[in-house]
Amino acid sequence: MPQIDAAAQTQAWLDTLSPEEIARAVAYTQGGHWLLLWGALVSIAVAWIMIRTGVLTGLRRRIEGSRPRPKRASLVVGVVYLALTWLLTLPWSVFANWWREKQYGLTQQPFVGWLSEAALSATISTLFGGLLIVGLYFIIRRTGRAWWAWGAGLVTVFLTIVLVVTPMFIEPLFNTYTSAPDGPVRQAVVELAEQTGTPSDKIYIYDGSRQSDRYTANVSGLFGTARIAMSDTMFAQGADLPEVRAVVGHEMGHYVHMHSLWMLGVFALSAAVAFWLTDRLFRPAQRLLGADRVQGIADPAGLPVLAAIGAVLGLLFTPVGTTLTRLIEADADQFSLTHAQEPDGLAKALIKTAEYRAPSPSVLEETIFYDHPSVENRIRRAMEWKARQQAAGSAPLSDEHAAG
Ligand SMILES: [Zn+2]
Repeated sequence: MPQIDAAAQTQAWLDTLSPEEIARAVAYTQGGHWLLLWGALVSIAVAWIMIRTGVLTGLRRRIEGSRPRPKRASLVVGVVYLALTWLLTLPWSVFANWWREKQYGLTQQPFVGWLSEAALSATISTLFGGLLIVGLYFIIRRTGRAWWAWGAGLVTVFLTIVLVVTPMFIEPLFNTYTSAPDGPVRQAVVELAEQTGTPSDKIYIYDGSRQSDRYTANVSGLFGTARIAMSDTMFAQGADLPEVRAVVGHEMGHYVHMHSLWMLGVFALSAAVAFWLTDRLFRPAQRLLGADRVQGIADPAGLPVLAAIGAVLGLLFTPVGTTLTRLIEADADQFSLTHAQEPDGLAKALIKTAEYRAPSPSVLEETIFYDHPSVENRIRRAMEWKARQQAAGSAPLSDEHAAG
């Protein structure tokens, strides 16, 4: 039996993409990196407009009148702030999240459909966000200098609740989830579930093609509500059984290794660091933005100042966040290889994600921007795994899929 050449097989997979497809993926992906920067600038510009117009400071003055009503002020100012920010940012969102996706052939959603879903999700975030803002300002008023630590605790508890309720109350507003219909796909998924100790009644197919043509699957929820969902785009793009096993194996890796919990822990730490920095940066940022009518960090009319700081910190911390998710994604791939044992199925699926993640970025680009390891690196690891299996004598003998 000839020795498997992992490098050559990786290249063979990458060669199934045409130069045009690769050029398009590179343009889409690298344009996306710039969107991060422009998006942060848009957030700062919107914050600046809110400060200049004095709409929030005026609102707070009117609510408080002659006596302080801090809870009511933070609720009303918070909700108005979130709604206005959404409106002012809307042209940018239309461009970045709908028009650009359409240009690259990644969505078929009509504009009206996109807009009504965007409005629905903005309404949900304004309601949740308004409550969070009230809690956060309560903490800032009550806990003084240590607010950043308490605040990090609050946002973490809040995110935990949101994660738990998402599959029950939020996702059904946007998509229909059904358990996989009887047939070979269901059978493959159930077998794999039994083997990995994942509850097989937690695996769904949803109509993801409504919003996006991206070939994708995910895990959502937390604790009892966690579930794995495959977008119908997988099947529209002809996913075969090895592919389904490889993809579901990857998602089971996220599920079994409880990656959401790890990420929640990382989120808590980052929130503490971000709030601590925000506490130190508030005064200089306030001066820089000319927000002299804001009465300090406990004033909800200072929300745009917090948002501007958040935009800058978000940009600076991008490589930390992406590096952590890359580690988790690599772990899920490893889980898939170990349990589903479908290196070529995994490669075939990964090639289909290359249209929205250029497959072969430079090391620097991957480190800073990629929230998944590059397709090239992921396929190489799969091919190396296959070569090791063969060397150990337990190989899946055929490599008939290798040519794609
Ligand atoms: Zn993943």
